[in-house]
Amino acid sequence: MKLTHLYATELPELVSSVTPQPPANSTLQLVNTALAEELGLPAQWWQNNYLAGALSDPDFVLCRQSVAQKYGGHQFGHWNPMLGDGRGLLLAEVQNSKQQHIDLHLKGAGPTPYSRHADGRAVLRSTLREYIGGEALHYLGIPSSRSLCLFNSDETIYRETPETAAMMIRTAASHIRFGHFEYYYHHNQHQALQQLFEHTFIHHFPEALKSDNPHQALLRTITLRTARMIALWQAYGFVHGVMNTDNMSIHGITFDYGPFAFLDNFESNAVFNHTDQQGRYAFDQQPGIGLWNLYALSQAFSAFCSQPEIDECLALYEPTFMQQYQQTMLQRIGLNKPDSTKLAVLNRWLSMLSDQQRDYTKTFRQLSLSDIESSAPTLRDQFIDRVAFDEWWHDYQQLRTKEGDTNAQQLMMQTHNPAVIPRTHHLQYVIDSAKQNNFKPAEELLEAIKTPFDTRWDETRWALPPLTTSAVSLSCSS
Ligand code: AMP
Ligand code: MG
Repeated sequence: MKLTHLYATELPELVSSVTPQPPANSTLQLVNTALAEELGLPAQWWQNNYLAGALSDPDFVLCRQSVAQKYGGHQFGHWNPMLGDGRGLLLAEVQNSKQQHIDLHLKGAGPTPYSRHADGRAVLRSTLREYIGGEALHYLGIPSSRSLCLFNSDETIYRETPETAAMMIRTAASHIRFGHFEYYYHHNQHQALQQLFEHTFIHHFPEALKSDNPHQALLRTITLRTARMIALWQAYGFVHGVMNTDNMSIHGITFDYGPFAFLDNFESNAVFNHTDQQGRYAFDQQPGIGLWNLYALSQAFSAFCSQPEIDECLALYEPTFMQQYQQTMLQRIGLNKPDSTKLAVLNRWLSMLSDQQRDYTKTFRQLSLSDIESSAPTLRDQFIDRVAFDEWWHDYQQLRTKEGDTNAQQLMMQTHNPAVIPRTHHLQYVIDSAKQNNFKPAEELLEAIKTPFDTRWDETRWALPPLTTSAVSLSCSS
């Protein structure tokens, strides 16, 4: 294991040193052994609750130089400079087998100078949701932070009701957010901003340094990655829930999971975050918000790039988004190379799902398993308006046949239409069991999301939509 503290030592004025304070009687409950091995972490950490104890020791290698990072952010459209790691700590970076430095970040380890009178804790419920959500997106092929381990505890903390405190360690290429750059820009801390850019170039985007205008190259890369990530969210029905700029990663990975959800029924304006009364972060608003967030970020680049240079980068957002979205959506229905006929058939399919309130993931899955030669596939029974379905199916069959090898198309569909996603009711079942100290369901769901396209899950509980589709409402920072 090779640990570094590059962010903490190169940018001492941008952090506060904080030693972790784990909640009482922390116990290691979940370990991502594959990820731990990939990072070369010591096997001892996962044995006999070693790591839980070690994190209470200020001399432990992960606690000696742990820091809270300062950042700001646009929250629901309004600038807030008062943010930072209020309950998270960057413990260290660890070098993986590809010589990349990966952040080890502990969430829920007590207050920091940025806690704003809050307790610095995270509840078991939201920690489990983040732990499973991050891994699920990763295995669906959507860039995300990863989940390394989760600790339960005996400590009660107070939210709307008393809950149990928990902690998790997540990993990411870095925890640098849009809001990091925004903060030093809006505070006219030009030197700090420059140092942050320098650190970002050297450790995370060295290829940008080869460009004539590294800042522009960096903004371009962030724009492209963000557009592709959000296109994949839209394609798989993922709602982030709190797309504030402090929750946006410069690496274009899904990050800071809060009241996230996957769509059950296809409802394009779905909102799950109960504090988002205006629906700013509704499912169908996400692509536009992604661009809004990039505009906010781009202000921090204005000292280094001209407005036309910035505009040139941001102009790439929409075509990149569309390209990725159309490609993935067509793959989901077994077609390649977008053209207007195929996109029209795709849109008719989506309208049927939406008009007839069908389950987004399950119906796509059924389509991927349907025999394209059949004149009346069982999928037909899903739709009340059979006439609309039959007309659509006829046109769709023609397209598939015209495109060629329908077996190859079906194979492609099977790797783009998951049987398993971490639906809200699955997560709730896992949470209810964990609250009774039973982490078996969590382990089972984690196993299933590792191979979400595998047919062995189709007949299990993890492939089932909820029995009722009553409105779901999830809370933000918990
Ligand atoms: P979030 O909505 O989780 O992205 O959090 C927004 C801000 O509030 C971040 O600066 C967090 O660190 C901070 N925060 C959220 N919950 C807590 C908590 N329980 N204790 C301290 N800070 C918190
Ligand atoms: Mg956050």
